[in-house]
Amino acid sequence: STIVVLFTRDLRLHDHPALHSALSEGHRVVPLFVLDPAVLAGAARNRIGYLVEALADLREALRERGGDLVVRKGDTVTETMRVVTEAQADSVHYSHDVSAFATARSRRLDAAARGAGVRTRSFPGVCVVPPGEVRPTGGDHYRVFTPFWRAWEAVQWRQAHPAPTRVAIAETVPVGRLPEADLADRWGVGSLSPDRGRGGETIAREAVRAWLASGLESYPQMHDDLAADKTSRLSAHLRFGCVSPLELARVARGRPGGDEFVRQLAWRDFHHQVTAAFPDLNRRDYRPRDTPWRDDPTGFAAWCEGRTGIPVVDAGMRQLIQEGFMHNRARMITSVFLTRKLLVHWKAGADHFHSLLVDGDIANNYGNWQWSAGTGNDTRPNRQFNLMRQAKRFDPQGEYVRRYVPELAGVAGAAVHSPWKPEVESEGYQLPLLEL
Ligand code: FAD
Repeated sequence: STIVVLFTRDLRLHDHPALHSALSEGHRVVPLFVLDPAVLAGAARNRIGYLVEALADLREALRERGGDLVVRKGDTVTETMRVVTEAQADSVHYSHDVSAFATARSRRLDAAARGAGVRTRSFPGVCVVPPGEVRPTGGDHYRVFTPFWRAWEAVQWRQAHPAPTRVAIAETVPVGRLPEADLADRWGVGSLSPDRGRGGETIAREAVRAWLASGLESYPQMHDDLAADKTSRLSAHLRFGCVSPLELARVARGRPGGDEFVRQLAWRDFHHQVTAAFPDLNRRDYRPRDTPWRDDPTGFAAWCEGRTGIPVVDAGMRQLIQEGFMHNRARMITSVFLTRKLLVHWKAGADHFHSLLVDGDIANNYGNWQWSAGTGNDTRPNRQFNLMRQAKRFDPQGEYVRRYVPELAGVAGAAVHSPWKPEVESEGYQLPLLEL
């Protein structure tokens, strides 16, 4: 028999439960990816850039194993059912995902397949612990991280699957062309962030090896240091599933620095289980709150462009433009500045992040934005964040600011954080939008 394995945000061969199951039953498989306009239209061009590279890498890896990646364009459900007919397949396997879009898509696929007498099966693979597997008594999801984390840690994680050595593909299916490198430009406006990270499982696995060998150990001490840039930078690889979060958690756990790092992967799972239960996370307050939002198009535009006159905020926002990435501490600082100082609605900020982040995903981006804005899962939603203190603590020498704000490159040391002081030489850098 033949099984279509529908790839979405799980673009890898290692530890791929849906693929593994299809192959271990001794079937022929048709690995399929559908370029769906409904997905591409909403995706940041930086993410499309990553996707194009990841698909090329996946096809190459499948070809090395005697298989191929079938690529189609159009509505995912329609195209999948077409391929099912061409391959005379009797099942479709896919990885379970949580966004409102993904949930609706799998429901439609299940219904279309049922109508055609074809079986569908969904598998884990997007999270370490599948959403819904741990639940609080009497609730459908955890609203607070710490109890979630305790339950999450106590779960017996499944074993990771090795990559298959051979993949036999049904020969009746035309494989289709990979998207070209300019796909991002055709769907988006302008070009990609010049220093964005590259995509694909091969690069991702190399990045994991390098991280385990020389980053993980210092993670607990260094992860908040803006200038040191000593976090894993694996987020985009996790976003597209080029790295299996479970495999990563398994190899990191118990190593020096590993437990602190694995806790961050639990945050990722946490936001995914929230999204599964509250699919409107990107549209509505998770925890309703009476915040006096302001309409401030000028302030918002200055924030987007990194021209607020607050150096650490501008550095973060310019890193985002340049790299399609921002350090976690800077994401916290910039989001708090927008929502708690400028009082601009979190959705505007989150949408802007989403239009640039290579790692942008509904659960993590909108979940974290709501946390920052005080409408999310923070147990202390009125938490005071002193931005100047944050800047001096996490960029004590001002190196992070000088790296991204060239107008201030000539200002030595921590003075770079207060360019408005008369003794600081900061010509060409704007005055602050507001006093902190
Ligand atoms: P590391 O510190 O090395 O962490 C390892 C992995 O753990 C990350 O790759 C990520 O998958 C996960 N992780 C770490 N922190 C968090 C967190 N707070 N929430 C959820 N998962 C986490 N992360 C995204 O992956 N996509 C987003 O769109 C996103 N938007 C954010 C928006 C705001 C306002 C804030 C405050 C945070 C956001 N984060 C997002 C979380 C975090 O900033 C990034 O995951 C992290 O900076 C990625 O860098 P890294 O891979 O080097 O992280």
